[in-house]
Amino acid sequence: GAARRPLIAGNWKMNLNHLEAIAVVQKFAFALPEKYFERVEVAVLPPFTDIRSVQTLIDGDKLSVVHGAQDLSPHDSGAYTGDVSGVMLAKLGCRYVVVGHSERREIHGEDDAVVNAKVHAALKHGIAPILCVGEGLDVREAANHVQHCTDQLRGALKKVTAEQAATIVLAYEPVWAIGTGRVAGASDAQEVCAALRATLEELYGSEVSRGVRILYGGSVKSSNVGEIVGQTDVDGALVGGASLDAEEFAKLSAIA
Ligand code: PEP
Repeated sequence: GAARRPLIAGNWKMNLNHLEAIAVVQKFAFALPEKYFERVEVAVLPPFTDIRSVQTLIDGDKLSVVHGAQDLSPHDSGAYTGDVSGVMLAKLGCRYVVVGHSERREIHGEDDAVVNAKVHAALKHGIAPILCVGEGLDVREAANHVQHCTDQLRGALKKVTAEQAATIVLAYEPVWAIGTGRVAGASDAQEVCAALRATLEELYGSEVSRGVRILYGGSVKSSNVGEIVGQTDVDGALVGGASLDAEEFAKLSAIA
């Protein structure tokens, strides 16, 4: 939509070891012409254990792809066994970090307060959160999806300033469409993305709301990405499964 530079972000989840990661990024980057990346931004979001390898490859080969992470701790350092902080991710050159993904909300019980703390942790270290919101099937069937998603957005943005909000990326990911092969209709995606943008306008004014990129995520592939990113308020895609295959991810990106 509009004058916003689209973002295609590949969320690898817990897949690909560091050697596979290098192979996928290399194959992907060389499948697209250099000029493509002037128009569209493409990010890969590997597991923590792959980030250093991906960073070294991208820097060494001067690839136009950027990288990020899938999660971060709300804390900077300390006795948090197994966690990884924004300080550490910033050192590894991460531009983005996913926050509020439905798998974190569900499997790890992360509520809006945790999501909000992680948004602040990312912003503090200059990493742009890719903030995910989305409703489950029950909420969708009860027709409460717009309210549910805008509530999640408000909760995640507590005490975030307009200047900070301008750097955030939002992702609308209906839970019933993630990894299921069931894609939201393009008009369903547009409906929620427009509501998220209206909420941003209410909170931060029109300049911020017009500048923030809002992605759609949920079973996006090369066969459906065109219709989805063609919507006025959809500025790209957060891609899970289809981002693990370099050829398919390049095909999908070329359409966006
Ligand atoms: C995701 O989990 O961010 C996602 C969009 O997954 P998939 O594309 O596999 O549905």
